[in-house]
Amino acid sequence: MSERPLPTTVAQALAQARQGGVDRLDAQLMLCTLLQRPRAWLLAHDEDALPADLAERYASWAHRRAQGEPLAYLLGDKEFYGLNLGVGPDVLIPRPDTETLVEWALELIPAGPLSSPFEVLDLGTGSGAIALALQHHRPQARVTAVDASPGALAVAQANAQRLKLPVENLPGSWFEPVAGRHFDLVVSNPPYIAEDDEHMAALRFEPKQALTSGATGLDDLCLITAEASRHLKPGGWLLLEHGYNQAEAVSDLLKNRGFRHVGTRTDLGKNPRCTGGQKPHE
Ligand code: GLN
Repeated sequence: MSERPLPTTVAQALAQARQGGVDRLDAQLMLCTLLQRPRAWLLAHDEDALPADLAERYASWAHRRAQGEPLAYLLGDKEFYGLNLGVGPDVLIPRPDTETLVEWALELIPAGPLSSPFEVLDLGTGSGAIALALQHHRPQARVTAVDASPGALAVAQANAQRLKLPVENLPGSWFEPVAGRHFDLVVSNPPYIAEDDEHMAALRFEPKQALTSGATGLDDLCLITAEASRHLKPGGWLLLEHGYNQAEAVSDLLKNRGFRHVGTRTDLGKNPRCTGGQKPHE
């Protein structure tokens, strides 16, 4: 908790958070969430009194934010690809980088009515971000999502229910819960950071299980590419998000497993972020 006296007005709350090192926009968003008001409201209500219980929660959030806790965990939600997703410490916070993978996947899933079901699998779904974005934009597709973390799967399930999207959420590790099934498209944003990567300090509030994967960060990408062909229909695609410096390694993994048309796409920051390939037709 902050040592300061609790703020008594909107203006004081914003000023205190900023003095404590909290970004102005973050402070506004925290206050908006607690007051359940839009941002524009704050401007016109600078001198409005804050109820003490709310001021207390706000001060606690501001303190946690100043310690580096991600805003999305405090607010409890995060926007991804136009959907508002509930998030918590059991799941990775969806990143704009992952929109690269979603856009590519949407190009591969037919938009119109389908003669046979188009089946999509999202491995390590976390909050459900990718699976839900795909299901939202392609209502005819059958989307299945898998996660080994029970906490994460509960978040994905709650998001699916709230958004009324019929994604099938299954517990288990990678392809384990879909043994014997074949998909038209498999997508994944697996953990891909090296265990001793210096960036991990900045990501300390997020689940390590969702972030790191062995000494090079490639362990899970390796596992997924090794198994994928067995779970793809002929002509099916595998799309994988990866680290900015892993495009070549992931391309090689796919080529070594017989994938064709292997290519890489960049994210909004121009980093190679997603590599994919197609299983041969026969
Ligand atoms: N893109 C995330 C980051 O670098 C990591 C996501 C992941 O490991 N899948 O913050």
